[in-house]
Amino acid sequence: MSKRNLNQMLLVAGLMAGLLSGGVARAQTILPDPVAGVEGKMGTQAGLEAWVEAFRPRALAAGVPAATFDAALRGVEFDPKVVERDRNQNEFSKTIWDYLDTAVSEDRVALGLKAIERNRDLLERIETEFGVEKEVVAAVWGLESAYGTYRGDLSVLGSLATLAYEGRRGAFFEAELIAALRIVEGGHVERFTGSWAGASGHTQFMPSSWEKFAVDFDGDGKKNLWGDDPADALASTANYLRHWGWTKGQPWGVEVKLPERFDYDQTTERVVKQVGEWQAMGVRTVFGEDLADHGPGSILLPGGHRGAAFLIWPNFQVIEKYNTADAYVVAIGSLSDRLRGGPAIQSGWPRELRALTLEERQELQERLTRAGFDAGGVDGRMGPKTVASVKAFQKARGLVPDGYPSLEVLELLR
Ligand code: CA
Repeated sequence: MSKRNLNQMLLVAGLMAGLLSGGVARAQTILPDPVAGVEGKMGTQAGLEAWVEAFRPRALAAGVPAATFDAALRGVEFDPKVVERDRNQNEFSKTIWDYLDTAVSEDRVALGLKAIERNRDLLERIETEFGVEKEVVAAVWGLESAYGTYRGDLSVLGSLATLAYEGRRGAFFEAELIAALRIVEGGHVERFTGSWAGASGHTQFMPSSWEKFAVDFDGDGKKNLWGDDPADALASTANYLRHWGWTKGQPWGVEVKLPERFDYDQTTERVVKQVGEWQAMGVRTVFGEDLADHGPGSILLPGGHRGAAFLIWPNFQVIEKYNTADAYVVAIGSLSDRLRGGPAIQSGWPRELRALTLEERQELQERLTRAGFDAGGVDGRMGPKTVASVKAFQKARGLVPDGYPSLEVLELLR
């Protein structure tokens, strides 16, 4: 690959990291506030400095030594860009196919194969110790930082202090900032930079996740997720996945073909059946083969009935602990398949459909609820309740009830 292509890819990886990807505990941080303070007043450097003074006794009470606190937060800079990102993070969303084009691009697969080759011994030791396949660990690494090449260059302390001070989710970021100060106190990090919401290192851990899950895999006494050597970061990622119940040998999912006249009420993570039952209902792999039995699983249609369908197993929910977006989980799963020499996703996607804007998603929820299909609020998040209400509406109108919140559904409600 030429340097130019590589740079382009890294640029894309960086953009992507802000959109969907970006780290452990993002499952919490990515959740938008129902009343995103878009109109709120922007803070200032002086305001941040006053906030740091007020925060100081709380941090000291939490066990941060005064000298560490003062050295770390003296001169910390207010970053308005971080605030803007925080306020607007849920404004735009991508369709799953646009996301996968970037997340599981041929470049990312090729770089991943090389990264595995370079780190084979390390990844195999991690696989043995934590029971998480090297291709899965590598896929998280590939998506979170393009295999360590894009780790973010914003000051973690600056971002967290800005977000803790700015207040929309102040308590959450204050706790993260205290955890970050403990990382500094222990001398675990030399250059403490990351992406905008405080996720950092090779696999974009939040500081609180570092506290719970980081391991010193190379035995140098530091849990260093930020240096050029990825050993600690990759082992910490495997440790994280193991903690949430990763089952070695169980696929995240497999692409399937549904029979004609399939009952689309069955396509939700909440319907769990034995593989034999799915098989009896006519579900086969996308290549027409019998389904392998990896235990009870669910059918997922992340792009509606005209896109790819997957039979997913509990490892899918383990990846969700990194990031709850279906697109993210499918990307990790598909990339890990590719790194193992497995097939790409075979089915096409309804590429002519565009993603709904935040406004449209809220309008959809409002109109569904008004039409008697309770969408569970108007937060713009297409959660299980909204999907169920879309399904109910589609059924009532005689459409394929796949629960996909398309523009077509919105138009029919208008
Ligand atoms: Ca170490």
